[in-house]
Amino acid sequence: MLKQIKGLHHVTSMAADAQENNDFFTRTLGLRRVKKTVNFDAPDVYHLYYGDEVGTPGSVMTYFPFPHIVKGRRGAGEVAETVFSVPQGSLGFWKEWLGNHGVSGIEEREAFGEKRLRFFGPDRDGFLLAEVADDKRAAWNGGPVPASEGVHGFRGVTMRLRDGGATAELLKFMNYEEVDRQGSVSRYAVRDGNGADVIDLEVLPGAAPARQGAGSVHHVAFAVENRAAQLEVRKALMDTGYHVTPVIDRDYFWAIYFRTPGGVLFEVATNEPGFDRDEDTAHLGEHLRIPAQHEHLRTQIERILTPIQD
Ligand code: ZN
Repeated sequence: MLKQIKGLHHVTSMAADAQENNDFFTRTLGLRRVKKTVNFDAPDVYHLYYGDEVGTPGSVMTYFPFPHIVKGRRGAGEVAETVFSVPQGSLGFWKEWLGNHGVSGIEEREAFGEKRLRFFGPDRDGFLLAEVADDKRAAWNGGPVPASEGVHGFRGVTMRLRDGGATAELLKFMNYEEVDRQGSVSRYAVRDGNGADVIDLEVLPGAAPARQGAGSVHHVAFAVENRAAQLEVRKALMDTGYHVTPVIDRDYFWAIYFRTPGGVLFEVATNEPGFDRDEDTAHLGEHLRIPAQHEHLRTQIERILTPIQD
């Protein structure tokens, strides 16, 4: 079992509009933009990172805004909902706040004894706020949302699959254990994880397959402490038969990727070196950072990308 995995590192999704995406995460959800960079594999597209003050692994929501992307279609074989942790008793505040900010799809729910608020992002991305007692992770206090109500980071994700068997086995191998079950949903959690350590697996055998597009989660990344732990995880996954990419330098973490049996793309990312490796903590995310291999294209990239107004 891969004890090196402590929960989520980041969740990466796709959006249609960078400005709208930026406003939603910084103004409506009150996260901090901790990095403004480009897609390392397609540097004419932004890669925007939002999280807590320093972008602690387990708090980082990232987006690729593709201006001409088709709308995603929800279905099986994807992350259906990204779940954020908020303080107990805060959902009343959030219901009113999200409503006042024109957010759609707001609906109170309860699952596994947790009070939750479902809502949609600008591209109908599926989100939930879940009240979690004693989440010690500090909310970002530099945004418009009072820190007393603020988002602590991820709680986890819900994956919707047609057949959950092989993915359940994989999650167990990745340090998750089944802790509860309710109808078609099984809950998995990492013991002593990083707070972003819950995954709900919803199995819907008859569901149509999802089609990726704006509002879809592109991949979900799991956190390991360092590169040595990542290499151990990579070897163990390959020994189990998974096709895992070589280690890729993403400047702020090191990444490996593999496709899971249910269709969702997984990444394993290191907690090191972090988002303050090239910017002061006080000024994270303010300036466009371009990785060294693309820095010579800066003038061209800055001409293509529409500036984001903060
Ligand atoms: Zn990633």
